[in-house]
Amino acid sequence: AKPPVRNYDMNELKKLDMAHHLPAQSDYKLQHELGGSRIITRADGVFITDAEGKSLLDGMAGLWCVNVGYGREELARVAYEQMLELPYYNTFFKTATPPPVKLAAKIAEKMALSNPDLTHVFFNSSGSEANDTIFRLVRYYWELKGEPERTVFISRKNAYHGSTVAGASLGGMTFMHAQGGLPIPGIEHVEQPYHFGEGFGEDEEAFATRVANSIEERILAVGPEKVAAFIGEPVQGAGGVIIPPASYWPKVEAICRKYGILLICDEVICGFGRLGHWFGHQHYGIKPDLIAMAKGMSSGYLPISAVGVSKKIVDVLLEKGGDFVHGYTYSGHPTCAAVSLANIGIMENEGLIERTRDVTGPYLAKALKRLDSHPLVGEARSLGLIGAVEIVSEKGTNKRFKGAEGTAGPIVRDLCIKNGLMVRGIRDSIVMCPPLIITEAEIDQIVDTIEKSLNEAE
Ligand code: PLP
Repeated sequence: AKPPVRNYDMNELKKLDMAHHLPAQSDYKLQHELGGSRIITRADGVFITDAEGKSLLDGMAGLWCVNVGYGREELARVAYEQMLELPYYNTFFKTATPPPVKLAAKIAEKMALSNPDLTHVFFNSSGSEANDTIFRLVRYYWELKGEPERTVFISRKNAYHGSTVAGASLGGMTFMHAQGGLPIPGIEHVEQPYHFGEGFGEDEEAFATRVANSIEERILAVGPEKVAAFIGEPVQGAGGVIIPPASYWPKVEAICRKYGILLICDEVICGFGRLGHWFGHQHYGIKPDLIAMAKGMSSGYLPISAVGVSKKIVDVLLEKGGDFVHGYTYSGHPTCAAVSLANIGIMENEGLIERTRDVTGPYLAKALKRLDSHPLVGEARSLGLIGAVEIVSEKGTNKRFKGAEGTAGPIVRDLCIKNGLMVRGIRDSIVMCPPLIITEAEIDQIVDTIEKSLNEAE
């Protein structure tokens, strides 16, 4: 049973928060001006409750991760039992425990749905760590292959691959690069497939070709023999839910194959059902050589991430031998792995992937269509259960709200929160990524609340 509702002294918490806590990705001056962080105390299903007792529909599944929704006793039970049996043991130096071995096999089964060559899994604790693992593994692979000059990664502007030094460098957010002297050398950022923002009025197919060609042009400029890999999120999440035109990914894959470059999909958001498939790339029909996954892998109940590795890379590691001198204390953490396995079990038993693909994903797309006629909406787009609403000042254009770039998202987000909906404002859009257990009625509540908030913003 759930623990009884605890009463927190909000004033006390906020005071302690300001006195001692630096929240992640936050403006600390603003944290203090607002009198402390927003404090969430409980959650159930798709709803979260804050310390003032206000209930909000969590249109963001936490931070794009609580795919099976809140309050799953089964996951708590699995963690409890695993902690009593074996809370922790490492996987260094050819060691293992049962949960990560079983989880690796389960993930391989899901990866094989699109690419039976994706046979192996390396565990980490976060999406950023997964991408750091990829960064080192890819360069190590090319070294072992006898092509050590292949070191360059091609990524995209506005991509998000994490906050670690390699993750933030692979990412394409210039405001992140500005802090800490990033990116590290050997990373090239090319155009993102953001049709509404950067291809407005252009035929989608022509846009997809132009953006994919920019990758080939960069490969040729760098020298194909120096390029190690291309990395991208199937749908860019934190960059503003950038859903590429259908032909973009097959074109990118063809370019990678043409030059013998590894294709990496960062599935940290898109994996585990978000786009209506176990992995987002499966929607686009491509076969990556490496996959980063995290978030929905445990629905955020415990931190765990993984890198899916294809046979051609594993074969080289096996053939050449020698340590891959990389790993984290919590690589393959047994309790986190046990919870991840149980989380995947819930998704299977409740058919959450199929439901997202066939029922709730299409329902969200249809519901968002209602916003098309709103005078402030430039575009409402979604795929599976991830979506965005672009806010404009003039219908039929992509002119920004009140003429000030980047202001509309936060304004409308704050109104949504006031109206009982947690969403994110990214530049001039509102983005959503609700738990996969969401009902049709709750999807209507999301869209109605966005509409109401847009009306108030006018
Ligand atoms: N990659 C993508 C696509 C993400 O969206 C994120 C986080 O939002 C990360 C990597 C980083 O994951 P983490 O925050 O677990 O390090």
